Amino acid sequence: MDHQSGAAPSPVIVERADHPVSRAQISGNALKVLYRLRDGGYQAFLVGGCVRDLLIGIQPKDFDISTDASPEEVRRLFRNSRLIGRRFRLAHVRFGQQIIEVATFRASGAPMAIDPDLDGITDEDADENLDENGDIDGNVAEPGDSRNHDRLHDDRGRLLRDNVYGTIDQDVWRRDFTCNALYYNIEDFSIWDYVGGVEDIRSRTIRLIGDPETRYREDPVRMLRAVRFEAKLGFTIHESARAPFATLAGLLEHIPPARLLDEFQKLFLAGFGRRSFDLLREHGLLEHLFPATAAHLAAEKDGMALAIIRAGLANTDQRVAEGRPVTPMFLFAVMLFGPVSAAAQRRFESGAHPGVAIAEAVDEVVSEQNRRIGIPKRYSIPMRELLALQPRFHRREGRRALGFLAHPRFRAAYDFLLLRAEAGAEHPEIARWWTELQSLAPEQQRERAGTETGGGQESGPGPRRRRRRGGRRHRAPNPET
Ligand code: ATP
Ligand code: MG
Repeated sequence: MDHQSGAAPSPVIVERADHPVSRAQISGNALKVLYRLRDGGYQAFLVGGCVRDLLIGIQPKDFDISTDASPEEVRRLFRNSRLIGRRFRLAHVRFGQQIIEVATFRASGAPMAIDPDLDGITDEDADENLDENGDIDGNVAEPGDSRNHDRLHDDRGRLLRDNVYGTIDQDVWRRDFTCNALYYNIEDFSIWDYVGGVEDIRSRTIRLIGDPETRYREDPVRMLRAVRFEAKLGFTIHESARAPFATLAGLLEHIPPARLLDEFQKLFLAGFGRRSFDLLREHGLLEHLFPATAAHLAAEKDGMALAIIRAGLANTDQRVAEGRPVTPMFLFAVMLFGPVSAAAQRRFESGAHPGVAIAEAVDEVVSEQNRRIGIPKRYSIPMRELLALQPRFHRREGRRALGFLAHPRFRAAYDFLLLRAEAGAEHPEIARWWTELQSLAPEQQRERAGTETGGGQESGPGPRRRRRRGGRRHRAPNPET
């Protein structure tokens, strides 16, 4: 199959009677959009991850629609829609919180990254450039001009907008995996399969459309996507799609850090982070996302950083399963803890104060890390604080302890303490003491902290740091280092 030339064999059409996807499983709003497009005389299909998920029998995260209507035509059909994206325009149809994304079929000549966020341009970025008419940076869309070539370059030649619309049998070839390239037709509820996707879903196989090496070179992030679907769906990456990892993984180093941040969140914050991590390591991709962490894990003898990562990811997966909030900030702390504590230890040994040693170590590790996955300051600043606060858990005297409880970052720091204790990187007694202190009523807390002043703490690991008049005696930033 020659996806490059956009060759278009006809699809295998799986009739409604021969597949299990029923309209009852499809979001009512997505159905509304599909029907209105159809009634407007356009083709309308559900496409991508949602068709795959419906075939497997899992609840799709979102419902994406493909159509032969141009973005402007879609916009005219839906008052509750707007056009987004700079390089690629697509319509977002909004129903309260739910957004249904409607993309116009693209020709195979169009670049592969199809969504605004796939360019590292988020909807928010795109929105910032929208004027009140929803048009981009003053480039008012000319009616009638949208159906075919609509290219816009900046003065350095970077493609700002490249809309090359096409037909469904061109659209299919720019998708990544066969399981992601099925189309559910609202006309007769059949599924159109150009690439053997139905069979690959049946056998739970992740297989690239076209020549694997070519497809990875076009967009190296597809390697991460393969692993993500392996982790999320429990599919197996076909040998032909796995083999190129060994030689092509290094291409990930040229991907913009903002896009890798996006991908990191999809891999680690969607409820299957623990599996993503193990698989990324197994496939030799972790070192391209977290080089310092991967190097630390390869060298560490006690397995402590690994234990913290595994516990932290399992914990995050659990929270996702329970519908509780999760933050990338905490996961960055988890992922970078190994290299940070090693760098802090080096500083501490050359005389730095433990808090300072940790803060500086975080800055060093984060600035390295930023070359791969861009960590926004809104995450790296609280993360530095969370890590630098860890030594304070060893100071359980009176007012200091109570003051720490009131610290705005106490909760996150405490969660991290629990993780370190769970991983064996902290004495369990310390975690227990802080857990108990929080469970007490305020006057009991004062009493407890008061009675512990200067005594009753000998169960902690190693020497405590006490306030001294004359010079300071520094203890190691992390007890296990
Ligand atoms: P999820 O359920 O995790 O959202 P998804 O398959 O919907 O999985 P998206 O990232 O939402 O994944 O992308 C939607 C569809 O767009 C994919 O199913 C695929 O057909 C296509 N696609 C996305 N990213 C790429 C890419 N990098 N290269 C080619 N096609 C892509
Ligand atoms: Mg999706």
